[in-house]
Amino acid sequence: MSERRSATDIFRLLADDTRVSILRAVAVAQFELEGAGAGAAELAFSEVYEHVDVENTSKLSYHLGELTGTYLRKTDDGYSLSHAGERIVRFILSENYERPESFGPEPVGGVCVFCGEETLEASLSQQFFRIDCTACEQQVTGQPITPAQIRTRDGDSLVQSVKLRSAEDARQIRRGMCPECGAHLSADVVAVPESPLPDADSLVVTSTCEECLREYNSPLTYSVVYHPASVAFHWERGIDVTRRGIWEFHERVYEGRWTSEQTASEPDEYKVVLRHGDDAVRLYLDSTATVMRTERVRGESGEFRNS
Ligand SMILES: [Zn+2]
Ligand SMILES: [Zn+2]
Repeated sequence: MSERRSATDIFRLLADDTRVSILRAVAVAQFELEGAGAGAAELAFSEVYEHVDVENTSKLSYHLGELTGTYLRKTDDGYSLSHAGERIVRFILSENYERPESFGPEPVGGVCVFCGEETLEASLSQQFFRIDCTACEQQVTGQPITPAQIRTRDGDSLVQSVKLRSAEDARQIRRGMCPECGAHLSADVVAVPESPLPDADSLVVTSTCEECLREYNSPLTYSVVYHPASVAFHWERGIDVTRRGIWEFHERVYEGRWTSEQTASEPDEYKVVLRHGDDAVRLYLDSTATVMRTERVRGESGEFRNS
């Protein structure tokens, strides 16, 4: 077991052209060798030597030794990428360290959560995908986006990719997993009385990753949209919520059809109601925003169907 090294030591290992080309070469060679269904290919020393522009085998041997343990794994069959090697080589190959190309403003569907107008525009701002309302000039949403995401798409397909990423992230966050690093998230529900959001939802779920220090915030109503009870409820009404962007739910909160409220304290409990037409699905949450129970309500008569 090697001793714990500092982050500077780890990055210093990469400050060398030959080592970066070794990592690239391993990724390229694996890509060429791996058939469908095969695991990660392990490369023999001679195979790595074939792919890398290095003066002699002793130099290659030295650099491979430096990378092994951190960026490469070595078995009797050869070399392959470690977890850190995977992350760094994909980062290098996708050129996600470059500045993203600009895009927009591009009109997008949906309603402004603040003023109710259908005047939303997407653009890139401070390297974030951002939606602004041109009527009230407020920012409606901001989502992280990668340079490769922008480089390989345009227009509608770019907007679709943002929706997909945010829906996938929201599903992991709801189940307590950090989409960034995979660690456990702890969640809290907090009241935000001064929230600019409509009164229908003034509760926010804050999920914190104590490993990578990422924090994710979501209105309580949106945090349950991808719960199976909500997915099924909407699916039966012709709506696939998993294909919707967060900003496409604003209309429901703006009109007060989606609401949240605190129903008990110590221990705290919350209720979210997602209404569609005369029907609704109610989700009951605990203080960590975990859904404890759901029920369907049909019509205004309050006929219940528990699930
Ligand atoms: Zn507006
Ligand atoms: Zn994390």
